[in-house]
Amino acid sequence: MEKISLVVPCYNEQDVIKIFYDEIQKIKKDFENVCFEIIFVDDGSLDKTLNIIRELSVNDDVRYISFSRNFGKEAAMYAGLHASLGDYVAIMDADLQDPPILLKKMYDILKAGEFDSVATRRVTRKGEPLIRSFFARLYYKIINKISKTEIVDGARDYRLMNRKMVDAILEVKEYNRFSKGIFSWVGFKTKWLEYENVERAASESKWSFWKLFLYSLDSVVAFSTIPLSIASVMGILFCFISFLIILFVIVRTLIYGDPTSGWPSMVCIMFFIGGVQLLCIGIIGQYLSKTYLEVKKRPIYVVAETEKDRVD
Ligand code: UDP
Ligand code: MG
Repeated sequence: MEKISLVVPCYNEQDVIKIFYDEIQKIKKDFENVCFEIIFVDDGSLDKTLNIIRELSVNDDVRYISFSRNFGKEAAMYAGLHASLGDYVAIMDADLQDPPILLKKMYDILKAGEFDSVATRRVTRKGEPLIRSFFARLYYKIINKISKTEIVDGARDYRLMNRKMVDAILEVKEYNRFSKGIFSWVGFKTKWLEYENVERAASESKWSFWKLFLYSLDSVVAFSTIPLSIASVMGILFCFISFLIILFVIVRTLIYGDPTSGWPSMVCIMFFIGGVQLLCIGIIGQYLSKTYLEVKKRPIYVVAETEKDRVD
């Protein structure tokens, strides 16, 4: 019998976990000769999430990992993939924004053997604030221009993968994780399914605009070194321009003597160049800080409890 593992990152999801579990039970009957394991990864939730997961884990098909604090969804996905035992593994949000009904279709496509993973992308952003959609679109345009790894617009983390691909992803052990990039980086054949955006079953999104903005910067640093090149090119350009200006000033002084005018423009130029220098140092700093975190080789997550620790 084949096994499908469902990895479900949960952060303060007390209102939806039970609904999620029931939905999964409903779709099970579509499958023949397949067993399921649901791995809830409690990402340091502050509400009753862990209690609910603990209760659910008396069922044979439920396992869980609970982090010692909030490590972020990326860490939760990695932990879930690491713990998974299935021949196929899917990553699903707890809030039912990733329709479980698609699982059967995904499984059938993988079974046919041509593809190694089936991924999903939203073609609409219904129910999302307009300003967020605007910046999301802009972000995908920019990242795909500056990164060699393709980041698909509207791609969800919801996907079903075979063991080969999961093992490849687990080999990517970087600390600053951006899974959408990693999925694409490891390669393999991916089939894309499109669907209309589904709104959350209950409670609120855990991602504020600011959190998403920082996440997008992380992804740029993780999958592109173009900003560093921009810094270097700007450096060269400004050296060239200042060389021309110096020549101009020398020639002018030789012909007209040394006028005291020109102070304001001087200050403007100083400020401008100073600004550009700070910007470039900032860009280098971003990469340096990520490198710093990588070389420390801290674990991606810390486990506080799993289903094995449960006391009945
Ligand atoms: N999540 C997590 N850790 C976090 C933030 C979110 O594990 O720090 C989980 C969350 O519980 C949910 C999934 O990641 O299952 C997606 O989060 P959310 O629905 O808030 O994001 P959105 O769908 O709005 O992008
Ligand atoms: Mg969601």
